[in-house]
Amino acid sequence: MAKSLNSEGKIAAIPSVRNEYTGQIWTIEDVRREVEKVRRLLTQEGYKPGLVRSIAFNPRLTKSCGRTHRFRATFEMDFSVNYFKKSGADSIWDTIAHEVIHTVPGCFNHGDGFKAAARCLEKHGYHVGRLCRDEEYAKYITQKKAFGTTYHVVCEDCGWDGTRRKKLSKILKGIMQEGQRRYSCPVCGSHKLSVYRVDFPGLETQLKSIKL
Ligand SMILES: [Zn+2]
Ligand SMILES: [Zn+2]
Repeated sequence: MAKSLNSEGKIAAIPSVRNEYTGQIWTIEDVRREVEKVRRLLTQEGYKPGLVRSIAFNPRLTKSCGRTHRFRATFEMDFSVNYFKKSGADSIWDTIAHEVIHTVPGCFNHGDGFKAAARCLEKHGYHVGRLCRDEEYAKYITQKKAFGTTYHVVCEDCGWDGTRRKKLSKILKGIMQEGQRRYSCPVCGSHKLSVYRVDFPGLETQLKSIKL
């Protein structure tokens, strides 16, 4: 019996992934829609993208963002759950486009054919890297492991900067609630506190406030 890589069971197990930073929920249908959009654009550009017979979120895919397998005449795509959780929206669109390019004949590796197709998608707003997003993500994971993500609170009024924490604790989540009055700055008493995530030295992201 032929081994199916994206079993329907796997698809049913993880029907959607919520991005931690934007709050956007990606369903398999959303990914499918993006895949078909990129296939249409590539067809317009004279390419012949292959048929994608199944798409799944794969929780075991941790070292890469996405993978495309050839299955006879069609393709199967796996996307990393963790990547969809942790990555920026733009990079997710580019990753999906990256995987769709792999279905074009002569584009299964990252050679000249792949690069030419990636360039064609630029005018449609995609920035499919010369490097595989897989590799970038792997690099990100390695650096993240070495450094470790931390969180800290900053007072938007006086600039007070709290202790670095390893986890997004209950208190930090409480501080992130929109219009919260429970926590105040120890210096000026203001409730205008923000939580920042630090991934690498010099790379800080203000976490969106949570609506109550
Ligand atoms: Zn690739
Ligand atoms: Zn303050």
